[in-house]
Amino acid sequence: MTSMRAAVFEQKGKISMREVPRPTPGPGEALIRVTLTTICGTDIHILRGEYPVKQGLVIGHEPAGVVEAVGLGVKSKKPTTCSAINVTACSRLPFAPNS
Ligand SMILES: [Zn+2]
Repeated sequence: MTSMRAAVFEQKGKISMREVPRPTPGPGEALIRVTLTTICGTDIHILRGEYPVKQGLVIGHEPAGVVEAVGLGVKSKKPTTCSAINVTACSRLPFAPNS
């Protein structure tokens, strides 16, 4: 199994870097190799336990990087395309308050 390093929410007050399984992009998805990222206020709220985030969740939502692989149906991106990402929480994400 291929792995990657990721920032993981362990518990209130603890975020660590760990090896996690590298995901395979599903239909309509792209896998981005992160080359630059930052910490934002949301990450601080998560660390303080102020947002209901599940233990073990990979966090971080403002990276930039290179498209490494694409899933079925993705035609607008191809491997090596540079991308900037800003993920906004919605009810479909695993850390959203109502999911
Ligand atoms: Zn943010």
